[in-house]
Amino acid sequence: MTTQLIDGFGRVHRDLRISVTDRCNFRCTYCMPQEGMQWQRREDLLSFEEIERVAQILVERFGVNAIRLTGGEPTVRAKLSILVAKLAALNVDLAMTTNGVTLPLLANELRAAGLTRINISLDSLRADRFEQLTRRNELPRVLEGVDAALDAGFSPVKVNVVVMKGVNDDEIVDFARFGRDRGVVVRFIEFMPLDADEIWSNDQVMTQTEILKSLSGEFDLVPLERTSAPATRWRYADGLGEIGIVASVSQSFCESCDRVRITADGQFRNCLFATEETDVRALLRNGASDDDIAEALQRSVSSKWAGHSINQVHFIRPHRSMSEIGG
Ligand code: SAM
Ligand code: SF4
Repeated sequence: MTTQLIDGFGRVHRDLRISVTDRCNFRCTYCMPQEGMQWQRREDLLSFEEIERVAQILVERFGVNAIRLTGGEPTVRAKLSILVAKLAALNVDLAMTTNGVTLPLLANELRAAGLTRINISLDSLRADRFEQLTRRNELPRVLEGVDAALDAGFSPVKVNVVVMKGVNDDEIVDFARFGRDRGVVVRFIEFMPLDADEIWSNDQVMTQTEILKSLSGEFDLVPLERTSAPATRWRYADGLGEIGIVASVSQSFCESCDRVRITADGQFRNCLFATEETDVRALLRNGASDDDIAEALQRSVSSKWAGHSINQVHFIRPHRSMSEIGG
């Protein structure tokens, strides 16, 4: 029987983000410290079978219809395509967010296993700046990864750009041109207070209004209708594609949020900024029934707050950084 994963504000949750590992082959400054995090022990990560069981409960009992794989870097999890095939069998919209560096090797295999959509994170088109931001000299391979994703038939391919003032805000127009040239959707993301080094401050956030101002000098943009997706979207008036802006900080979209998350170590989170988690791994490993797990998930969602409070005095940073939660 399908019921809804509904919270106290009437929001129905249908979008599940699964972090498959906390490990990463990059060390982006806005996400991870240079030395990486203290990685979780392999045995503490959910197995593919455990991930599949939770996903199945969410899909079959609560009508979840979209799953996105994330991390850390999801493609560093060995044999990822096996998990992709298991989740694809649930007949959901199956997507992945990746830094793109392994896509030249893996794009075809993941596509064949049933992954349909892909978001590639790329914050600079300049090799020196890319290296400063990711602490890796891999721009050419990530660009190859974008092409590999297109060639493998992913549709759409989106490129996620975290825009930071004084860091890469002078590349907004370059990225828009890149998207139009390559046939990918560029999504500009506001910098969020989820960096491991805790360097975030509000004056580093390039806001939606500022991003749009940079673009409007060059392009004629027409607003598109908003959906439950995090990005507000515009199409180019000349028909050459679209852009999105994820304005989590300056124009939060909490009132239409339909996302829940599972961390690589099996903690269920009802909000990106949640300060409490539900230990699904303990339930899975201590003989809980599907009914028990479903009840725990529903209880967590029932207690979801109205929205995050970034920039307000009572905002509490989650104890985990973006790389541990999964974005
Ligand atoms: N490693 C993969 C990647 O980079 O795409 C997936 C995990 S990453 C944590 C997911 C998304 O979060 C990426 O698009 C990344 O750019 C974004 N992200 C990481 N830290 C962020 C921050 N402090 N503010 C905004 N977005 C952030
Ligand atoms: Fe790794 Fe992605 Fe975080 Fe960069 S944003 S450090 S690629 S998890």
